[in-house]
Amino acid sequence: MKAAPFAYVRPGTVEDTVVELELEGAKVLAGGQSLVPVLAMRLGRPSSLVDLSAVPELTKLSRDNGSLRVGAMVRQRQVQYDDLARAVPLLGLALPWVGHREIRSRGTVCGSIAHADPSAELPAIASCLGATMTLRSTRGSRQVSAGDFFTGAMSTVIEPDELLTEVSFPVASPDEGFGFGEFARRHGDFALAGVAVRVRTTGETVTANITCFGVADRPASADVSTHLRAALDVTGPEPDEADLRRALAAGPAEEIAAAVVDTVGDAHASPGYRRQLVAGLLSRQLSRAFVKSRRRESGVR
Ligand SMILES: Cc1cc2nc3c(=O)[nH]c(=O)nc-3n(C[C@H](O)[C@H](O)[C@H](O)COP(=O)(O)OP(=O)(O)OC[C@H]3O[C@@H](n4cnc5c(N)ncnc54)[C@H](O)[C@@H]3O)c2cc1C
Repeated sequence: MKAAPFAYVRPGTVEDTVVELELEGAKVLAGGQSLVPVLAMRLGRPSSLVDLSAVPELTKLSRDNGSLRVGAMVRQRQVQYDDLARAVPLLGLALPWVGHREIRSRGTVCGSIAHADPSAELPAIASCLGATMTLRSTRGSRQVSAGDFFTGAMSTVIEPDELLTEVSFPVASPDEGFGFGEFARRHGDFALAGVAVRVRTTGETVTANITCFGVADRPASADVSTHLRAALDVTGPEPDEADLRRALAAGPAEEIAAAVVDTVGDAHASPGYRRQLVAGLLSRQLSRAFVKSRRRESGVR
């Protein structure tokens, strides 16, 4: 099938881009890795495509004030390999799982977040870290936190005339450890279920938050500090990774999975199977993140 006819514009500035987006039916074209298949299958019929590839200010990847700022045209592969992005370890853990190398070479971080596929990795990373999205239109600019950004499957608070100009991820602090895991039938497929984990250990205080994906209509986040502490009560405060994984698998991880998996299932997996996947992934990644956070806090890398 061929795409329905559309106009094509390639503005050179953000100001001109948002003017083009005021036209009824206009749609942003970033890396095209999700939009072009949608057009080819005629699942969408925009009146015009506003190509971002000629706007230099959208290609910026920078670090300032404790944040990594990723512009709308920064490709996923650039973030995967750029030294600056190491300041946000969860991005480095997740990006190899996003499609294939060819997809990541064209696809953008912001495009994936704007597209908001419930099984995608990058919306989950943005949610787990509490990233901030900057939206721009001719009416002005606004910032939205990840917790308020995703509104359902393939759905966000972005208005039709708004451009997501950048996503800002908080840089990791020395007392944090991270974990990421997913299960897909073949490498490069969207995940049946996946987890992103952030643990902070400051002295005696341990906090943990997670975001699961592929298990609800949007990234599913939870504070799981009490579950992690319950497992630590069983193992003692200095467990090795395997001991803690077993303690989590013996109860707390299943409890979390029961709370976050919110789907009636599909042809690929039932809700029960997804709960099992989440519990297994969480036991492994929470224990890994805890051990890393403890090592980082004590200065061992
Ligand atoms: C074979 C294949 C396998 C894939 N596997 C995975 C996978 O495992 N995991 C995964 O996460 N993704 C996967 N993807 C999708 C890929 O990550 C896309 O690159 C990503 O979803 C969209 O980014 P893009 O830059 O290509 O956006 P586009 O395709 O250009 O745009 C996607 C949507 O977002 C909107 N949009 C894009 N940028 C902006 C912006 N700055 N402001 C406002 N709206 C915007 C567009 O209008 C469009 O509606 C796969 C894609 C393919 C083709």
